[in-house]
Amino acid sequence: MRCLVTGAAGFIGSHLTRRLGVEGHEVSAVDCFRPTYDLATKRENLAWAADGGQVTSFETDLSRDGLEDLLHGVDVVFHLAGRPGVRDSWGDALAPYLQDNVLATERVLAAADGAAVAKVVLASSSSVYGEARRYPCRESDLPRPHSPYGVTKLAAEHLAGAHARNGGPALVVLRFFSVYGPRQRPDMGLARLFDAAATGAPFPLYGDGSQLRDLTAVDDVVEALCRAAEVALPAGTVLNVAGGRPVSLAELIERVGEMSGRPITVEQHPPQRGDVTRTEGAIDCIRDRLGWAPATSLSDGLAAMAAWHADR
Ligand code: NAD
Repeated sequence: MRCLVTGAAGFIGSHLTRRLGVEGHEVSAVDCFRPTYDLATKRENLAWAADGGQVTSFETDLSRDGLEDLLHGVDVVFHLAGRPGVRDSWGDALAPYLQDNVLATERVLAAADGAAVAKVVLASSSSVYGEARRYPCRESDLPRPHSPYGVTKLAAEHLAGAHARNGGPALVVLRFFSVYGPRQRPDMGLARLFDAAATGAPFPLYGDGSQLRDLTAVDDVVEALCRAAEVALPAGTVLNVAGGRPVSLAELIERVGEMSGRPITVEQHPPQRGDVTRTEGAIDCIRDRLGWAPATSLSDGLAAMAAWHADR
C-alpha cells in the first residue's frame, strides 16, 4: 500500500509512520514542523519513524504548498496534521487553528479528490463532543464542542463528509480520546507529569484533579488507524477510539508519583476555559466495525511512557 501520513513528525503521526514503514508499506511522511513545541523533538520523532522502513519525508505546509505531486499514486491518506490543544484557541489565537485544522484539511481533501486516492482516514477528536449531556459519548450524539479547537475539528469532519458525499475517496473519521504513550506532546498532561516527576518541579494542576480522561494508548490508536485503512466501511463512517476506562487526573498524579518514587508537588490553578470535566467514549461501534478494542492496560501504557521519559 502507498500511504501518505500528514503530521508525521508529531506524536501520533510518528508512531503510525513507523508501524507502516516496518510493515513494508511505502510511506510519504509529511510535516511542516510548526513550532508548537521543540523542533528538535519533532525531528527526532521523524527520524525514529523513518528508521528501517521505506519512508520518504517531505517538508510541506499543507495549508499553502502545492499538493498534487504528493498525492500522486497514493492509495491511502492518513490526515493527522493539525494544531492540537484546547486552551489556547480563543480570540485571535484561533487563526492558526483555522489554518492548520480547517484550511489544510480542505486542501488535502481537494487534492485527494483529484488524485486516484482510495481512502482518507481523518484524525478527529473527542473534543467535538464538549461537555456531553450523557456518557459515554456515542458517535450519533449531537456534537457540541466546548472550545474553538473543538469547533475546528468538527469543521474538518464536516468538510471531509462533504467531499465524501460529492464523489471523493472513501472516508473514515476517527475521534481520538486523550492519546498517551512515548513521544506524547510535551504540552499534554501525562508528559508534563513525567517531566515534573523527573525534575521535581511543581506540576501545574488546572482544576481540582477530579476531571476524568478516557486515556487511549498510542499503539492502540495506531492499530485503529491501520484497521480503518484496510476494512471496507460505509462512506463517512465516524468511530470513537477510546481506552474504555476513564481515569481522574488526581489518580494519574498519584500513580506517576508512585512509579517515579517521589510524590508530585502540585501547584493549584483555576480550571481553564475550554477544558471539559469528563471524556468518555463508547467503543461498541469500533468494536463492531473494525473488531478493535483497546489492548494496552493503563499500567503497561504508563510503564512504556515512564521508560521513554527515563531514557531521554
Ligand atoms: P502533534 O502536534 O504532535 O502532531 C501534529 C503535527 O502536524 C505537528 O508535527 C505539526 O508540525 C504538523 N502540522 C500542523 N499543521 C501542519 C500543516 N499545515 N502542514 C503540515 N504539517 C502540519 O499532535 P498529535 O497529538 O500527534 O495529534 C495528531 C492529530 O490527532 C491532530 O489532528 C490532533 O488534533 C488529533 N488528536 C490528538 C489527540 C491526542 O490526544 N494527542 C486527541 C484527539 C485528536
